[in-house]
Amino acid sequence: MPRTLITGGAGFLGSHLADALLNRGHEVICMDNLITGDLRNIEHLFGQDGFLFIRQDVTNYIHLPGPIDNILHFASPASPIDYLKLPIQTLKVGSLGTHKALGLAKEKNARFLLASTSEVYGDPLIHPQKEDYWGNVNPIGPRGVYDEAKRFAEAMTMAYNRYHGVETRIVRIFNTYGPRMRVEDGRVVSTFITQALQNQPLTVFGDGSQTRSFCFVSDEVEGIIRLLESDVSHPVNIGNPFEMTVKQLGEQVIELIGSQSVIELKELPEDDPKVRQPDITLAQHHLDWAPKVSLREGLEKTIEYFKKVLASQPI
Ligand code: UDP
Repeated sequence: MPRTLITGGAGFLGSHLADALLNRGHEVICMDNLITGDLRNIEHLFGQDGFLFIRQDVTNYIHLPGPIDNILHFASPASPIDYLKLPIQTLKVGSLGTHKALGLAKEKNARFLLASTSEVYGDPLIHPQKEDYWGNVNPIGPRGVYDEAKRFAEAMTMAYNRYHGVETRIVRIFNTYGPRMRVEDGRVVSTFITQALQNQPLTVFGDGSQTRSFCFVSDEVEGIIRLLESDVSHPVNIGNPFEMTVKQLGEQVIELIGSQSVIELKELPEDDPKVRQPDITLAQHHLDWAPKVSLREGLEKTIEYFKKVLASQPI
C-alpha cells in the first residue's frame, strides 16, 4: 500500500486528492495548518483505515516516522484575496515549505509532486499558454507573492531533481472549481454562485472581458494523479481549455440558478491577467488526459454544494 503525504490536505484540492488516493488504495496523511484549509473538507475521513491528519505548518521542520512513497505539496493560500491577506505566509510556504517538503522527499526516497500554477505565466503574452513559455510576471506587484513563490518552488523542485536525484513532478494548475471551495474565498466561481443564490449583484471586475478557462475538480484531480503516476519530470499544464470571459461566466451562473441578480462592474484588481487558457497538448500526449466534465455540469454540481453550505451557515 503506497503511503502518501499531502501538504495542504484539508484544502480544496488537497482534500479531493485525499479522497481519490484513499479510493485507489493509498494510505494518506493530510498535513495542514488550517489557515485556509478546513477540517470540514476531511471530516468524513476521520476514523477511516489508512487516514491520518497532522496539524502542522510545513514551513517548519517536518518529522514523520515510517516510510513515505509520495509527497504532494499542495499547501499554500491559493486565491487572490487569500494571498493578498497572507503575503508573507504565501511566500514562506512556497519557498521554505517547498524546501522542507523536498527535504523530506529526499530523506524518505519519495516521489515529490509540486502544485504549481498558471500564475507562473503571469499576465501572459503568449496565448494559449504552453509549458515552454517563461511568463510575464510582475515580481513586486500584489500577486508577485504567489507567482514568485511558485516560480521559486519550481526552481527548487528541479534543483532537487537534478542535484539530489529526487523523482519530481510539477503540475501547473489552471482555474479549478467545484464543491469544497470556500464561500468567502473571493474566487470568481464561488463568489458569483454565492451572489446569484442570494439575488445580489454579481461583482464583475473591470469590464468583464478578461478570460479564464475553468476545470471541474474531478477532472483536475484525475490529471494530477496521472501525472504523479507518470515518469514526466518537466512541468505539465492541467486545466480545461474551454475559455470564456468573466462576464459570460456571470451570465451563465445567473441563468443556471434562475437568479434575479444583475451584473455590477467593479474596479479591476492590479495585474489581473487579461487572458488565460491552458495548452494541454503535453497532458494529452503523456498522460492520455483531457477534461470530461462540461462547464454546465460542473457548475450545476457546484451550485448544489453552495446551496447546502449557505443553508447550513448563512453568511
Ligand atoms: N473576478 C471578478 N469578480 C469577482 C472575483 C473575480 O470579476 O468577484 C475576476 C478576476 O478579476 C479575474 C477572474 O475573475 O479576472 C478570475 O479571478 P479569480 O480570483 O477566480 O482567480 P484568478 O484567475 O485571477 O487567479
